[in-house]
Amino acid sequence: MDEIEHNVEEREDFTGIKLRPSIIYYPKNEEEVVKIVNYARERRIPVISWGAGTSLSGHLKCDGCILIDMKYMNKILEINDIDWYVRVQPGVNLEKVFKEVESKGFFLPPDPASFFLCTVGGATANSSGGMRGVKYGSFREWVLAVKVVLPNGHVVKVGEPLRKNRGGYDLVHLFVGSEGTLGVITEIWLRLIPKPREPTETILAYMRSFEDTAFVITEMRRRKILPDLAEYIDGDIIRLLNKHLNADLKESDGGALLIVVGKDAVKDMLDILQGRTLELKIAEGEEADELYSVRAKAVLALKAESPNIIVEDIVVPISRLTDAIIKLKEIERRENVRMPLIAHIGDGNLHPNIIADTVKEPEKLFEEVGRIAIDMGGSVSGEHGIGYQKANLLKEQVLKHNGRDVLEIMMQIKRVIDPYDIMNPDKYVELAYKLMNE
Ligand SMILES: Cc1cc2nc3c(=O)[nH]c(=O)nc-3n(C[C@H](O)[C@H](O)[C@H](O)COP(=O)(O)OP(=O)(O)OC[C@H]3O[C@@H](n4cnc5c(N)ncnc54)[C@H](O)[C@@H]3O)c2cc1C
Repeated sequence: MDEIEHNVEEREDFTGIKLRPSIIYYPKNEEEVVKIVNYARERRIPVISWGAGTSLSGHLKCDGCILIDMKYMNKILEINDIDWYVRVQPGVNLEKVFKEVESKGFFLPPDPASFFLCTVGGATANSSGGMRGVKYGSFREWVLAVKVVLPNGHVVKVGEPLRKNRGGYDLVHLFVGSEGTLGVITEIWLRLIPKPREPTETILAYMRSFEDTAFVITEMRRRKILPDLAEYIDGDIIRLLNKHLNADLKESDGGALLIVVGKDAVKDMLDILQGRTLELKIAEGEEADELYSVRAKAVLALKAESPNIIVEDIVVPISRLTDAIIKLKEIERRENVRMPLIAHIGDGNLHPNIIADTVKEPEKLFEEVGRIAIDMGGSVSGEHGIGYQKANLLKEQVLKHNGRDVLEIMMQIKRVIDPYDIMNPDKYVELAYKLMNE
């Protein structure tokens, strides 16, 4: 194993969780990944894959594990302009892929706001969503096939670079979103579409109140307007973006709504927004790109304010958006805390952020917020995943919405693929299952 580049060091993920691996390997190809996995299995040492460490739910927590850093497996292997896919190694930066496919006239829509930091492997293992999720969904909808080193050391390719494929059970989507608990992904095929030709408009609306925002989103749904983007940041986040990143946003307690729609929907949008905004502007070209980029950096502004944040990722049915926000505001008042809100509001995916050092029992508060979503028929995670942080909430969600048998099936899948229990153990489904049986 000495021939594979390695070192020993402590690391921190983006949220500040400390990782203490026994060793970190930096494989340069799939054969080296196989060697590392075989070595780990023979010694029953946990294996954790590291992309860029930007996941937000404790996915990478590790004490004594073997950490596999994918940074050298970072190539774009193929862009197929007839079959419309891109094939990449997992360690490639997502923004690099965006730029490369764009230069060939293509568009890869799923855009976690960490696109400039994260890897395609991490975003695939997390099934990341993003700002364009309202129209284009999350990674799950764009991964056609993956190659994976399984815990037994075998390499399998599941799926094909085809839009239509009924070749057996859908194993691709078992690995997408599996958070490194089923194997190490070594290659990914992503579907591409041509760069959209229809012109769009970007509307930045400083809202009178959150209730107005919820109304606008609900009314868009009623009028069958499907935006390219519908993002919300509250007054707190606006202040933090101005303070830490010199964003030039108008400070407004009602927050700001950033909406991108086709030109044909602008008139309808302005009609819906009428009387509900403090100020409104329509941006184009570079100014529109700049607003998108400012929104993408909202988590960085938050992190600059406090290194100690716990990020929620709840999803509620759009029809319950107003109720959900009322409940969040009630919690803020009752606990006398701030929970700055960033939201992919167009698809009901809300990120209230708990600034942990301002709260007595942050974990308790975190779970209370998660239960708001569960009780409304929503989900505790839309895109960030479960890690260890949301395992208890995952258990509650599955028991309430699906039943015990479903968590049993999930655990059986983990046991079939990883009977040695070495792939990112004690998180996600495995931890939820343990908590169910306590
Ligand atoms: C500023 C910021 C904004 C964000 N915005 C969004 C957003 O809008 N939408 C969203 O969905 N998420 C968002 N996130 C979180 C998001 O989950 C991550 O950015 C991204 O999915 C993780 O990529 P990564 O390369 O850092 O993976 P890591 O954090 O390194 O890993 C993530 C998970 O994938 C596993 N993994 C990594 N590589 C592999 C591999 N090759 N094989 C198997 N498993 C692997 C890891 O073990 C881990 O479980 C944001 C994070 C930040 C810091």
